[in-house]
Amino acid sequence: MMSPILPTYNRAPLSFVSGEGAWLVEKDGRRFLDLGAGIAVNVLGHAHPKLTEALTRQAGQLWHTSNLYHIPQQEELADRLVAATFADTCFFTNSGTEACELAVKMARKYWFDKGQPERNVILAFTGSFHGRSAAGIAAAGSEKMTKGFGPLLPGFRHLPFGDHEALKAAMAEPDVAAVILEPVQGEGGIIPVPDVCLKGLRELCDKTGVLMILDEVQCGMGRTGKLFAHEWAGIAPDIMMVAKGIGGGFPLGALLATEAAASGMTAGTHGSTYGGNPLACAVGNAVMEIVADEAFLSEVRRKAGLMRQGLEGLVAAHPDVFELVRGSGLMLGLKCKVPAGDVVQAAYAQEVCIVPAADNTVRLLPPLNIEDEDIREAIARLDHAAASVAPASVA
Ligand SMILES: *Cc1c(COP(=O)(O)O)cnc(C)c1O
Repeated sequence: MMSPILPTYNRAPLSFVSGEGAWLVEKDGRRFLDLGAGIAVNVLGHAHPKLTEALTRQAGQLWHTSNLYHIPQQEELADRLVAATFADTCFFTNSGTEACELAVKMARKYWFDKGQPERNVILAFTGSFHGRSAAGIAAAGSEKMTKGFGPLLPGFRHLPFGDHEALKAAMAEPDVAAVILEPVQGEGGIIPVPDVCLKGLRELCDKTGVLMILDEVQCGMGRTGKLFAHEWAGIAPDIMMVAKGIGGGFPLGALLATEAAASGMTAGTHGSTYGGNPLACAVGNAVMEIVADEAFLSEVRRKAGLMRQGLEGLVAAHPDVFELVRGSGLMLGLKCKVPAGDVVQAAYAQEVCIVPAADNTVRLLPPLNIEDEDIREAIARLDHAAASVAPASVA
């Protein structure tokens, strides 16, 4: 008989019942060190007192009114995001994939309103991930995500990651509306776009008018040690997708844009029943208050240095298990020589949660406020896990 839950997930045989900081408690009582943070979501760990307080205070006051009315918590969060970023305006969603939907609509409406409706193609890169909606899978374009779901939303053109000449030629086509990319590919295996490439792409966008959409759903909200990853390159997008970390575990996403890029999105052109609801925004404000603080981000960078140093040590100690470390800040990937799934299993056996990704990589996306001693414990446990994994066959 079919599972009452649609069987679209391959779940590990673990059920967590409580958490505190970077630790999760399994129903059998075992304590796991959480280096996945719900896939880069729990930026402040589990049961952070300020987030719990913000949520429970709002829960006792008002849950939902809809966007028929002003929502003060939403206005406060928009003010915070606009003050902290390139953006002039925000739209709140419940997820990253909904932010992707709006990014695509916004870019197309921008050109439509300029009298150039034929400019509706969005360039995207191989290895990318933009969510599981019809627009999200069409944007990513991989067979793994799209097979069987055709006809796909038209108007996406895919470029090989890192091919500058192909990109230049594609950007010059007269039907291109926008380009979408992750500054650090997450699901793709923690693959950063070099700063110089982001700068070059920004220049190409300025020259051609093509809108730059950055998907910072995974790499944003302090994950790389800056509030948003593109800040490292000293550039700004026209449109940016945010989700995951912004709600610290409560479902929340946002699309941020410049006034010019958002100019087509007038009253009635888009909406969401739940998007930016008081509960979500109360938590979002509490997250922003902590994470957007420069002293907090500087601590993230320091902790990231510790973590990276530990992982480099693991690669050196287990050259037959790990190939290399890559990533930015506390968004780190270990490319494996043995199947990445074996490393994830071995980590579970040591009571550590890590997350598999493409390109035979495992992801480490711990809470941004992980304690130094938990980082040391994580490295020690991963060391044991690596030692227990069968090395790649020495042919
Ligand atoms: C997770 C993710 C999404 C999709 O977000 P959901 O909240 O799962 O819809 C989109 N883009 C990137 C880069 C992501 O990591």
